[in-house]
Amino acid sequence: MDSTIELQQLTLREMELELADPLRTSYGVRNTRRVLLVEARDAAGATAWAECVAFEDPGYLPETIHSARHVITRFIAPLVLGRRFDHPRDLHRLLETNVRGNPMARAAVEMAAWNVAAQKNSLPLARLLGGRREAVPTGIAIGIQPSLSRLRERTEQARAEGYRRIKLKIAPKNDIEPARTACEAVGAENVMLDANCAYSLNEIDTFETLDTLGLMMIEQPMGWDDLADHATLQRRLKTPICLDESLSGLARVRDMAALGSGRVVSIKPGRVGGLTESLAIHDFCVDHRIPVWCGGMLETGIGRAYNVALASLPGFTLPGDLSPSRRYWKRDIVDPEWEMTDDGFVSVPDEQPGIGVSVDSDRVERLTENRETLTAFE
Ligand code: MG
Repeated sequence: MDSTIELQQLTLREMELELADPLRTSYGVRNTRRVLLVEARDAAGATAWAECVAFEDPGYLPETIHSARHVITRFIAPLVLGRRFDHPRDLHRLLETNVRGNPMARAAVEMAAWNVAAQKNSLPLARLLGGRREAVPTGIAIGIQPSLSRLRERTEQARAEGYRRIKLKIAPKNDIEPARTACEAVGAENVMLDANCAYSLNEIDTFETLDTLGLMMIEQPMGWDDLADHATLQRRLKTPICLDESLSGLARVRDMAALGSGRVVSIKPGRVGGLTESLAIHDFCVDHRIPVWCGGMLETGIGRAYNVALASLPGFTLPGDLSPSRRYWKRDIVDPEWEMTDDGFVSVPDEQPGIGVSVDSDRVERLTENRETLTAFE
């Protein structure tokens, strides 16, 4: 098996892609998502598209598209371009040693390297990673709704479309009644909540009430880099806590397990610095019987392809945020677009080498607002 990688060129492109539904964040409402794509070219001629999943604002984690682009251009490209690696793991190790933090910047290039390795071995990425599933179960994330009746309608609709679990975003004072409504509509065993770090231990009563509902799990209720308060809260609850923002890599997952900060892990390859780290977390969780699922970062069909490949590994026992293209985009930039079956599964591409979807490069070219090509010999 030849997994040698020698990247000669990285092309960065930025564009605005139109969302199917407006996106509400603490910074306002948006109708588009700004996207940073990486196109890597290997010395042997393989071309690999990947996506940097950072947002424009630092409302999820500190990294932004702007900071990620700076780190890729100034630090990651000079380290990796023109250098030979025996395996994507070695590229990961070099980046981890030399670039602290900035996981989404590192992941964009590291994932492209995995894609190159898959193409060189004529393997679908999922199989190179060790994935065995043919299709992955899919869940949906539903934002805070204007009314309980609208929430009930959205939840029932999602269930009817086939989604295998409903994730409800909650915020202080917009939590117990929405959660109860969703549980009544589709059954508590199908409902999880995502609090996106909006609470503190002062609100422990709220969680004790939510705990009586029998939910699948509650995601990241405490601070974005917290483990200790989560551990305090988890000791008081029967409902499993799932961590997202706090888990920057395997070391933090180990700490979570040691401290009892949560019982479920969401893996997002961008958040943890790429696929090598994602695999290490997956293996640790399998060994420690911690259920794992794949989170989403409002990726285009390119980023989604990597998530689907990762979610085909055996430890991903819970439905992931792997919605089909039409859920997020007026029109995706891949061909074919991602589809979901009536019973909520997305097929794992198993025919072509690499990520299994083609990039609509004419459309990407038209959408590109700016482009920068970095080469090995500058
Ligand atoms: Mg989350």
